[in-house]
Amino acid sequence: MCGIFGVFGHPEAANLTYLGLHALQHRGQESAGITVSDGDRLRTERRMGLVGEAFDRALLRSLRGPYAVGHVRYSTAGDSSLPNAQPFCVEYAHGAVAVAHNGNLINAVDLRKRLELDGAIFQSTSDSEVILHLLARARELELPGRIASALKQVEGAYSLLFLSENQMVAARDPRGFRPLCIGRIKGAFVFSSESVAFDLIGAEFIREVEPGELVVVDGKGLHSLHPWTVPEERRFCVFEHVYFARPDSFMDGRSVYAVREALGRRLAREHPVPADIVIPVPDSGVPAAIGYARESGVPFAMGLVRSHYVGRTFIEPEESIRHFGVKLKLNAVRQVLDGKRVIVVDDSLVRGTTARKIVKMLRAAGAREVHMRISSPPTTHPCFYGIDTPTRSELIASSHTPDEIARYVTCNTLKYLSREGMMEAVDEVTPDPGPKRLRVIGQGYCDACFTGRYPVEFAPGEMSSLRRVIN
Ligand code: AMP
Repeated sequence: MCGIFGVFGHPEAANLTYLGLHALQHRGQESAGITVSDGDRLRTERRMGLVGEAFDRALLRSLRGPYAVGHVRYSTAGDSSLPNAQPFCVEYAHGAVAVAHNGNLINAVDLRKRLELDGAIFQSTSDSEVILHLLARARELELPGRIASALKQVEGAYSLLFLSENQMVAARDPRGFRPLCIGRIKGAFVFSSESVAFDLIGAEFIREVEPGELVVVDGKGLHSLHPWTVPEERRFCVFEHVYFARPDSFMDGRSVYAVREALGRRLAREHPVPADIVIPVPDSGVPAAIGYARESGVPFAMGLVRSHYVGRTFIEPEESIRHFGVKLKLNAVRQVLDGKRVIVVDDSLVRGTTARKIVKMLRAAGAREVHMRISSPPTTHPCFYGIDTPTRSELIASSHTPDEIARYVTCNTLKYLSREGMMEAVDEVTPDPGPKRLRVIGQGYCDACFTGRYPVEFAPGEMSSLRRVIN
């Protein structure tokens, strides 16, 4: 759960990166960082906290140069502290290089052990630092070759941006778990985890970086190394569509908003129930609730109002804070709910704590019946590819049936969208045919959090050591 952004060849590279990171803030709120290059030298500034808090005007002004990469972080591997904030920047035999990483490397623990036995000294506990060590040891003469050599040794999920003094390289793992796209603004190239950042800075969307592609930008323009490694079946993270990405982004050729609405429509077809109103859990459940209301003909209403001055409650680490957090974030509207049979739509149910609080709130505001509808299947397995999920034992659906969860949550009924329904909803949203707007990159999703089918094999014992690192 991270966002990455890069600018190559713009006089205001740091400012644009700052804005880009703002648009990607939902992908990570723990730390923010920017590395700039003036063509000769790299400089990195990293701070804990939100982008707006991390960088003030004076600091931004001091980040001079036409090349920049930035990162917002939410830790899925390594703890939350400044040494783990990115971009990571190092000096090595060929000069300086910075890296910003979104995803999770599943063989990082083994690689790190091997490198440490060989004398490597690590400055962080993040899996991403391994990539720089591998790159520094590579024998290739050019940066893209060194990057390819490093990436051939890592397994798992990565969308990456590298910056040297005068070259930028973007890379996506061969399965393309995490998103990354390319845009243009004036003469400059920009890269972003999500297209929404291009809207903000007024950049033109060009295309997505393809799974298994290395895109190199330098004084000679943009060129692609594809494939630089053994091709794999594409496995884009379906949870980006369900929850993680912003609905105003386009990814994997599709509008995230349109996919979420389609998920809601499918949900209405699979699990109808007589009711007076459909309400979303804002903000994450809004497009699916709109889809559900449209399909079912039950009127849509805002029965819950969200305060925008608190972050995602899930992010709060302490159990006690998380419980309180729901109340801090959401309040029920009696005017809308009193005496009503209510369908409440959310995108996913993880531990069940949010849903339980919400049902209590809705009943206290007069709801006569509460029917929970979830626009994805039961979350039964943790993610090892870059989405923060708790351990299996904390995932309520790993050990309880929907009816048992309904009893815990205290709602009248609780139904999930089927896996087939979810995949059909994604497929139903036709990829944008615009020649420049988007390029379609085949089929194939990772749905391991719903099925336990992990696309990258784990060696025996690797899973538990990974879990220790991740959690
Ligand atoms: P829970 O209370 O643990 O069941 O959390 C469910 C809520 O968290 C839902 O409203 C989801 O929108 C949201 N959610 C699901 N997955 C994540 C995630 N990985 N990070 C943050 N929030 C999430």
